[in-house]
Amino acid sequence: MYSSKPSIKHIGVLNLQGAVSEHMIMLSSINNVQTSLVQKTEQLARLDGLIIPGGESTTISRLIKQNGLLTPIQQFAKQGKGVFGTCAGLVLCGKTTTHNEVELLNLIDISVERNGFGRQVNSFETTLDIAVVGLQIPAVFIRAPYIAKAGKAVQQLAFVQQHCIMAEQNNILVCAFHPELTNDNRIMRYFVDKC
Ligand code: GLN
Repeated sequence: MYSSKPSIKHIGVLNLQGAVSEHMIMLSSINNVQTSLVQKTEQLARLDGLIIPGGESTTISRLIKQNGLLTPIQQFAKQGKGVFGTCAGLVLCGKTTTHNEVELLNLIDISVERNGFGRQVNSFETTLDIAVVGLQIPAVFIRAPYIAKAGKAVQQLAFVQQHCIMAEQNNILVCAFHPELTNDNRIMRYFVDKC
């Protein structure tokens, strides 16, 4: 039995639209993690990390602006706190995208090809070997984007069909798929450790 007190990480999930509850369930499977849903700026203050879920990037972007969260999330990331964008969340964390109606957070130096793998019919599942995380990690792709270009400061972590689909730059982690729709929590644990 450990006698020392483990450090608790407080991770929030941006609760505007998309696969929010699936992230909450996956986070609850990790020891020493406290979770909360985030809709307002003041809810960011107590967090060590924030997840921007998959969903519809146009909708989430609009709601981020409506809720006045654009600059506060950028400041949160500038403080070195962890941000993990999955699927539409990857799009939103990027610097530029093929669809310029989406206002991006510009947290990581990547250009994103939205719906890069095609429409709904082109959704697929695969397994990935990710050096920093582990082998044979299940990944669900749903109208997934890919990273078309990445700046020098970006570590490209995984590829599918020669497209980069997972990357990190310091405290920012992004993936084009939905790790929370599997029951393998290794990518989530990797993120929590970064926070
Ligand atoms: N194609 C969607 C978008 O760009 C993302 C899909 C998803 O998050 N599963 O908004």
